[in-house]
Amino acid sequence: MKKYYLMAPGPTPVPNQILLAMARPIIHHRTPEYEALFAEVREGLKWLVQTTQETIILAASGTGAMEAAVTNTLSPGDKALVVRAGKFGERWAEICAAYGVEVVALDAPFGHTVPPDRVADALKKTPGIRAVLCQHSETSTGVLHDVRGYTEATRKSDAILVVDTVSSLGVADLPMDAWGVDVVVAGSQKGLMLPPGLALCTLSDKAWDRVKQAKLPRYYFNLLEEKKLVVKNQPHFTPAVSIVIGLREVLAMLKAEGLANIFKRHDRLARATRAGAEALGLELFAKATPSPAITSVVSPKGIDSERVLAAYAKSHNITIAGGQGEMKGKVFRLGHMGYVGDFDVVIALAALEQVLAELGYPVDWGAAVGAAQKVLAERPA
Ligand SMILES: *Cc1c(COP(=O)(O)O)cnc(C)c1O
Repeated sequence: MKKYYLMAPGPTPVPNQILLAMARPIIHHRTPEYEALFAEVREGLKWLVQTTQETIILAASGTGAMEAAVTNTLSPGDKALVVRAGKFGERWAEICAAYGVEVVALDAPFGHTVPPDRVADALKKTPGIRAVLCQHSETSTGVLHDVRGYTEATRKSDAILVVDTVSSLGVADLPMDAWGVDVVVAGSQKGLMLPPGLALCTLSDKAWDRVKQAKLPRYYFNLLEEKKLVVKNQPHFTPAVSIVIGLREVLAMLKAEGLANIFKRHDRLARATRAGAEALGLELFAKATPSPAITSVVSPKGIDSERVLAAYAKSHNITIAGGQGEMKGKVFRLGHMGYVGDFDVVIALAALEQVLAELGYPVDWGAAVGAAQKVLAERPA
């Protein structure tokens, strides 16, 4: 027997008390019980997303929320500015292309970011841009984009700012209302420590106005129809009831910890992970602000990163992630978001030492673990 560890940047481990809550017998969604559950979840999400707006919950993976954001706010032939510095940035462009939205791409090499002044310049130089689409945490590269900076550019413009927070909600601070973000999209299986299956969309007043004008086709992902029912605590279609029950428990857990502590915990775990990787002489893939959700590490010269994943899996029964697209074979990614504590990071790094040694890389035993412990032992001043 080898104990199993899920250490990928999504899906992430689900706490036992959440699993037990979700194992309760199914309830019907057209009942007072469901309405009471939904009322609690609505309030909890306002707290988590830091907004007064309602969050629409769809039964889909995170990409469903991305697609809903596009189809509900844009019309055929509209222009959208896409911050494209990773696989998920590319996904925004692919969704737009699928629906006949003209993409104006702001590219940066993977591992880098697009600075806010490039967004501001593009908005000035290209008339008619209706939306700016970006990630907060670009999970494929491990970079955190400057969403606050992007809001400075979009607030004064005609464009809405649509932010994919699938790997940052409940991980990194993004006060939707205070910053003036127009659409926040998220999913259940990353920072929210739930199984995959919920897609979340929260819209500002500016974005809801767009929904009324938007002409792209939609049926299942009709946010306006959903909103009419949400305020009555009713679902439009059959919801993913069990995961919504899990979400109520997650929101209670997160509330007990407090937003500031949640963000501090992730920042600390991320710093410990980066310190550990660097102590082994490895290079971090992120050349801009690193994401607190995930650490992307460049595989040592001559070692295909797919072999690193395979060794984690075969020798230690640990799932981590590799590189996506052009990063395949070059990087491996350690997730540290959601239900993660100090010693999960220590385990991931101890295993990294063993994995690299197995693959012939010279390892100074304990170097990664020691460097991480040093960070974890820090006491707040
Ligand atoms: C995981 C993820 C998604 C959504 O992927 P799904 O597989 O559809 O849940 C979208 N954006 C980012 C940044 C992600 O990390």
